[in-house]
Amino acid sequence: SPIPDYLAEVRGAVEPDRSGAPADYIPELAAADPERLGVAFAMVDGEVYASGDVDQAFTIQSISKPFVYALALADRGFGTVLDKVGVEPSGEAFNEISLEPGTGRPFNPMINAGAIATHSLVGTGQMGADVRLRRVIDGLSAFAGRGLETDESVFASEMAHAHRNFAIAHMLRTHGILTEDPATVVEGYIRQCAVLVTVRDLAVMAATLANNGVHPVSGQRVVPGPVVRQVLSVMSTCGMYDAAGDWATQVGIPAKSGVAGGLIGSLPGQIGIATFSPRLDSHGNSVRGVSLFERFSSDMGLHLMEVP
Ligand code: GLN
Repeated sequence: SPIPDYLAEVRGAVEPDRSGAPADYIPELAAADPERLGVAFAMVDGEVYASGDVDQAFTIQSISKPFVYALALADRGFGTVLDKVGVEPSGEAFNEISLEPGTGRPFNPMINAGAIATHSLVGTGQMGADVRLRRVIDGLSAFAGRGLETDESVFASEMAHAHRNFAIAHMLRTHGILTEDPATVVEGYIRQCAVLVTVRDLAVMAATLANNGVHPVSGQRVVPGPVVRQVLSVMSTCGMYDAAGDWATQVGIPAKSGVAGGLIGSLPGQIGIATFSPRLDSHGNSVRGVSLFERFSSDMGLHLMEVP
C-alpha cells in the first residue's frame, strides 16, 4: 500500500510548523510536549495505518462529545435528547456561556454547554452518577475496541480550574436542562474529557462512525445507523466551533477537535482519520492537525461536496 509512505511524507511537510500553543487553561495540558505529531487512518474494512507518535496517549477532551452524544441518543431516543440540546451551529467559542433564547437549550452538543447536558442524558435517567460515568467510559471503549482509562492528573488539573464549566452547568440547572446537582454532572463530564487515547484509537473510533456504528475490526455494533447520521451531521456543522464554516469549505469532512491536540474526521462509508499535535490556533483547534486535514482532503479528493 502507498499509504504508509504518504503518511510519512505529509507528516514531514507539516512538522516544521511551530505556530500556536498548547492549551494552558488546564495547567496539566500546558505541560504536554508540543513537538508530538501523530497521524492514523482506519479504513472501514478494518485496515489501520499509523505514523509518527502513534503510541503516545493523550486526553480525548472534546473529541468525546460526538461519541457521548451518540450514546445519549441510543440510550434515550431522539425526542428526549433534542428536547434538551439543539442542533444549531452557535458560531461561538467552545466554552461560550450561551443558551438558546426562549428554551434555554444549549445550541448544540459540540460546545461545552451542550456536552455537559448530553453527559447527563446517557443511561437510563435513573442511574447514579458513577454508574452513568461507567456507561460513558464503556461506551467510548466500545467505539475504540479496547478498554480506555482516565488520566486522573489531567482530571484533577481541569477540576481545579473549571469555574466556567460550573457556571454553565448552573445556568443549565436554572433552565431545567439539568435536573440534578450541577457540580456532579461537571465532574462526570470532566472525567469523560480525561479519557486517554492514542491517534490509532481515535482513527478507529472515527471509523466506527464512518462504518455506520459498527466497529470495523470486531464487527460489533456500537450504536444504531440513524444515530450515526445525526452525529455526523452535527459534527459537520458544529464540530470545529467558530471555525466550522472555514472547515466545511476548506476540508469538507465531518470532524471534531479537542484541546489536548487531537482531531478526528469521519468520512461516511470510507475512512476514519485522526491526528495529534498539541499546539492550538485561536479557536482551540490543532494547527498542524488542521494543515494535515487540508492536505488529506485535497490530495485524496475527500471533500464531501466535491462532485466526482
Ligand atoms: N475539557 C475541556 C473543557 O471543557 C474540553 C474542551 C475542548 O476540548 N475543546 O474545557
